[in-house]
Amino acid sequence: MADSYDVVVIGGGPAGYPAAIRAAQNRLSVACIDAWKNRDGSTALGGTCLNAGCIPSKVLLESTELLHRAQHEFAAHGIRASGISVDLAAMQKRRATIVKGMTQGIAGLFKAAGVTALAGHGKLLAAGRVAYTSHDGAQREISAKHVILASGSVPVELKAMPFDGRQIIDSWGALELDAVPQRLGVIGAGVIGLELGSVWRRLGSEVVVLEALPDFLPMADGAVSKEALRHFKKLGLDIRLGTKVTAAKAAKGAVDVAYTDAQGAAQSVKVDTLVVAVGRRPNSRELLADGTGVKLDERGFVVVDEACRTGVPNVWAVGDLVRGPMLAHKGKEEGVMVADLIAGHFAEVNYKTIPSVIYTAPEIAWVGETEEQVKASGRPYKVGTFPFMASGRARAMEAGAGFAKIVSAADDDEILGVHVIGPMAGELIAEAVLAMEYSASTEDLQRTIHAHPTLSEALHEAALAADKRAIDIPNKA
Ligand code: FAD
Ligand code: NAD
Repeated sequence: MADSYDVVVIGGGPAGYPAAIRAAQNRLSVACIDAWKNRDGSTALGGTCLNAGCIPSKVLLESTELLHRAQHEFAAHGIRASGISVDLAAMQKRRATIVKGMTQGIAGLFKAAGVTALAGHGKLLAAGRVAYTSHDGAQREISAKHVILASGSVPVELKAMPFDGRQIIDSWGALELDAVPQRLGVIGAGVIGLELGSVWRRLGSEVVVLEALPDFLPMADGAVSKEALRHFKKLGLDIRLGTKVTAAKAAKGAVDVAYTDAQGAAQSVKVDTLVVAVGRRPNSRELLADGTGVKLDERGFVVVDEACRTGVPNVWAVGDLVRGPMLAHKGKEEGVMVADLIAGHFAEVNYKTIPSVIYTAPEIAWVGETEEQVKASGRPYKVGTFPFMASGRARAMEAGAGFAKIVSAADDDEILGVHVIGPMAGELIAEAVLAMEYSASTEDLQRTIHAHPTLSEALHEAALAADKRAIDIPNKA
């Protein structure tokens, strides 16, 4: 095996593996070192996203949403269903099978593209040199013209409640539970808390979510977070805002969680399982030998410029390891950009049009600025909103909750942000991303023909509503 490559990628997650594939497409010789190990000891490409993040969580969200609809929506369609029950083992087996298939798919893609996959640990020694330690402990040095650091992130652990892998668990543990906890505690009402809280609530757990901040989903548009909170409460998620968790003690099959509530009063809650989902930190601790010159910021992120250059010649860093939202698609675009830049092609990432999606029911998605951010900027703006209740397709789906909202500049009609809460929001937002990528105006969206009856008409009507020209809802004076 050659020990010299044009490009060595450290990390085979959604930032690293696309970088490796694109570099190979650019006719460069490429190796990708990936350290992922599953609980059964097997190795797998795909990183957090495929093995313990995006994909398994979406599989369980899909399965449990089907369950919820069968239990709560079928009757509205005139379908009588009785005896519905859950086979959790089968549900979890399906999750594992899909994950395995997807991760093996990456191995197949590597083979087809000519990328050398190296299972084990990679460490940057100095520009042009990487130490590779295979899982059996064998060490060797690899030389590379370019190194792309893509080691991702790991869950933040709270000192007061360290993970024990059984009762106090991280999101990976929460995806692989083999029994439905009667009472589930979740620390953090962020994306993971809401998605996994929804999964286990739909499967029957009583779910208590303790969130430190006084506001719910502060990164989302205010109207969206307000609507979302209403629906999560309806689902039965007991979300307690403004809490400060002080201790968690696991004993006798239960975890006692002590916290102070928003009024400062001491409280406690007893749960069977506690999921700590308070964010993730960059996985940069065992990545760099002394003297590489690569800089870390105070939180451990590798410091990079807009083009993911570290400042050390030919050393690049992408994905969760660097600034910006911790999202798989953000990492993928960065990986591909770097592989193209290395090959001398033009490439860039438009950080203003990275969509966010929360895959709950109703689904939540947005791109660009919230109304609050635009207001704070002082730029005059207009807003158009269209409720799914007025969408024939959404009503046919028994999914009339939520709305699509567009925030546009009052002066030049530029679309500044689009926010959707409702059915298939994550799919609908793609149109808004494309519109913003091409600097479309609100009028451009208004003049675009949308098929009837589709959910996408909600975006069309929201754009029309921004100029009080909506057809299917009364326009506000
Ligand atoms: P990672 O996916 O973390 O991959 C890094 C890889 O590098 C890993 O395989 C790791 O083992 C390996 N590695 C680390 N150090 C080394 C080393 N020194 N040598 C060799 N290999 C190393 N994002 C979305 O966009 N959509 C979602 O729906 C979504 N859902 C999520 C659900 C959950 C429960 C979680 C936890 C995350 C979710 N995310 C989602 C976030 C998404 O998973 C991350 O943003 C994404 O995985 C980051 O990609 P990455 O390649 O930078 O890092
Ligand atoms: P997050 O940042 O979304 O949410 C963490 C939450 O925990 C925040 O609301 C924070 O205020 C709260 N918190 C922090 N410390 C706390 C404490 N001591 N007590 C109580 N609450 C506390 O992080 P996450 O949910 O852990 O997700 C991690 C990353 O994974 C996110 O950056 C997210 O982008 C990504 N992710 C994305 C998706 C998706 O795209 N659908 C899904 C899951 C995860």
